[in-house]
Amino acid sequence: MNDRFVVVGAGTMGLGIAYVAAGAGFHVELVEVDRDRADAAMEKLDGLWQRAVERGKLTAAQADASRTRVLLRGDLAEVADGPDVIVEAVPERPDLKRSVLAAAEARQPALLASNTSSISIGSLADGLDRPERFAGLHFFNPVWAMALLEIVVGPATADETTAVAVALAGRLGKDPVVVRDLPGFATSRLGVALGLEAIRMVADGVASPADIDKAMVLGYRHPVGPLELTDLVGLDVRLDIARTLQQAYGDRFAPPPLLVEMVAAGRLGKKTGQGFYHWENGRRA
Ligand code: NAD
Repeated sequence: MNDRFVVVGAGTMGLGIAYVAAGAGFHVELVEVDRDRADAAMEKLDGLWQRAVERGKLTAAQADASRTRVLLRGDLAEVADGPDVIVEAVPERPDLKRSVLAAAEARQPALLASNTSSISIGSLADGLDRPERFAGLHFFNPVWAMALLEIVVGPATADETTAVAVALAGRLGKDPVVVRDLPGFATSRLGVALGLEAIRMVADGVASPADIDKAMVLGYRHPVGPLELTDLVGLDVRLDIARTLQQAYGDRFAPPPLLVEMVAAGRLGKKTGQGFYHWENGRRA
């Protein structure tokens, strides 16, 4: 262990992972190809540290110490060999991820990981020289607030690598689940199944979206109902996952016609202001 943690991609997830890793005492290198994105990420990180101090979660000295532990890099070639871990959090495109992982592997990390939410770890491991050191580390958004870390074990992932990932979860303050590399892992498969059934219930006229959600919140203690969650994630994102899962598991994951129609009409949820609910200024109206 040399306490070096590399994150590739400073988008929504990458900056969140960097924030948590710096808070856990790692020296973080955040690799981002897009200069504007890199600057925006550092601004966002500064805002997070400032808010943590205002809320009394960190002292000013702790926040400053975390800030000095995060360095921006424009390319993986600038990263010295042998970090403890490299996690890629670039967009969900298999070819892009494979090329980033190949460049990351050349830096010889003890653990190489992908934050993919749906691509098979086995398929991403194709072409790696040391697939036994590679696993999925599926963080949740926002990374600093979500306790879960889904560790995805590919066909070639070594037991020691899984053990390293579980230990890392503990150090990052996350509670891990270890899952096999099957489409949808544990989270997306179960979450999307519930979401799709809720959409079929809206189409069947069982109840209003608000009442279906309320039933799950009050009756099953879900923190948010499945339809509101679909609005938050994005109906287009859920439709893509449903189609992937339909290919893998058959028609029980067939997207309901209502979902397909809403996506075609541009009703994608919170990001477009309209989904199962109306959204104004980022809040459910
Ligand atoms: P994003 O688009 O916000 O960020 C991706 C970043 O990667 C961008 O800043 C982009 O410029 C950068 N990038 C692209 N190519 C690069 C390269 N070669 N080297 C360095 N940086 C590069 O995406 P995101 O929402 O953070 O998602 C990233 C990954 O995390 C995806 O695989 C996604 O499926 C997964 N994920 C996302 C969420 C979520 O809620 N957004 C949740 C869990 C997992």
